[in-house]
Amino acid sequence: MAQINEHYRKLQAGYLFPEIARRVGAFREAHPGADLIRLGIGDVTLPLAPAVVEAIRRAAAEMGTPEGMRGYPPEQGAEDFLIAAIREHDYAARGVPVDPSEIFVSDGSKQDSANIQEIFGPRCRIAVTDPVYPVYVDSNVMAGRAGPATAEGYYEGVIYLPATEKNGFMPPPPEEHADLVYLCSPNNPTGAVATRQNLEAWVDWARRADAVIVFDAAYDAFIRDPSLPRSIYEIDGARSCAIEMRSFSKRAGFTGVRCAYTVVPRDLTGSTSTGERVPLRELWARRHATKFNGVPYVVQRAAEAVFDPEGRKQTAAQVDYYMENARILREGLAGAGFTLFGGEHAPYIWMRTPEGRSSWETFDLLLERAQVVGTPGSGFGPSGEGYIRLSAFGDRDRVAEAVERITRAGF
Ligand SMILES: *Cc1c(COP(=O)(O)O)cnc(C)c1O
Repeated sequence: MAQINEHYRKLQAGYLFPEIARRVGAFREAHPGADLIRLGIGDVTLPLAPAVVEAIRRAAAEMGTPEGMRGYPPEQGAEDFLIAAIREHDYAARGVPVDPSEIFVSDGSKQDSANIQEIFGPRCRIAVTDPVYPVYVDSNVMAGRAGPATAEGYYEGVIYLPATEKNGFMPPPPEEHADLVYLCSPNNPTGAVATRQNLEAWVDWARRADAVIVFDAAYDAFIRDPSLPRSIYEIDGARSCAIEMRSFSKRAGFTGVRCAYTVVPRDLTGSTSTGERVPLRELWARRHATKFNGVPYVVQRAAEAVFDPEGRKQTAAQVDYYMENARILREGLAGAGFTLFGGEHAPYIWMRTPEGRSSWETFDLLLERAQVVGTPGSGFGPSGEGYIRLSAFGDRDRVAEAVERITRAGF
């Protein structure tokens, strides 16, 4: 008898996006031909940068020759070009030394953030912010680090740190002990960004608590203020308590190309049951080599092109485009009387629902009165109740049109 992993049964149904699809479908049926504007997606919309396309073409052509043919790529990533470019542009340029052996290239931060928990013991206590990117929680539920979910949607045994208006959507470290904490900045879904002081408090706490921070910086390219930290390693002491993840998905439109990386510093250790300290890098290297066969050469060349002078210019222009959408949304909707957060260093706007309405009520109103589709904040966790996430990915004209419609509809 092949017994199943019963922890999977604790997972709550993937409720959010199917429910959005159901409500949108019902609306379409009742209003055939309705012109909907989708501000709900967390996916890029602009075409790939020409420098990236050219790199893909060149790498593919190279592999079509006897000399240029390549088999399995190195598991950890191409040290001679992509890892070198990451070190130089993402770290050395900001005064952060990272060794090539500490960088692990992968096919996505979703999988990295889901897989990282494997190198930790089954009884590690995890802490997450609420609302949260669901992958951090669900991957730990699957691994058995949580009990059943309560009616409110909290899993037993997981520490939830409410991200609220009061704490600027950047919760401080918990009073109780946690072993592994997931932080995402700039944040999906709230659009909040961690300041240096925020990260200093977290690093200080993690070092004292002997905890590990998993820092998801998938949206670092959207930070507009150069004085804000882009990497947690800009904070003294972070090398001994933090793992960092970055992705080419949002910064360069790679959601369909697939490339990301994780940094596990050599200074970072975990403890055995007998108190021996073991470098986490060794465990992650072992996991990576056992379960992953490397990112395609063509894709690694595409990622390298993001760092070329042309690639940098072109991908920065894409980010600028989305951030101008964010500005139009923020200013337009603030003008229409909404209270909004985020969208200054992130492609997401976190909009307070009017008149204390629930997230889903407001979702329905936006759909009915303005034919605009948002994402109910409550779908990201109980503390997201009372908010709607609006995404700045999308077409400029449509974003402007959405603002106009919402303003005209009045709320
Ligand atoms: C989009 C996103 C990622 C990136 O995932 P990929 O697998 O690299 O495409 C990671 N974390 C968060 C919070 C995201 O929203």
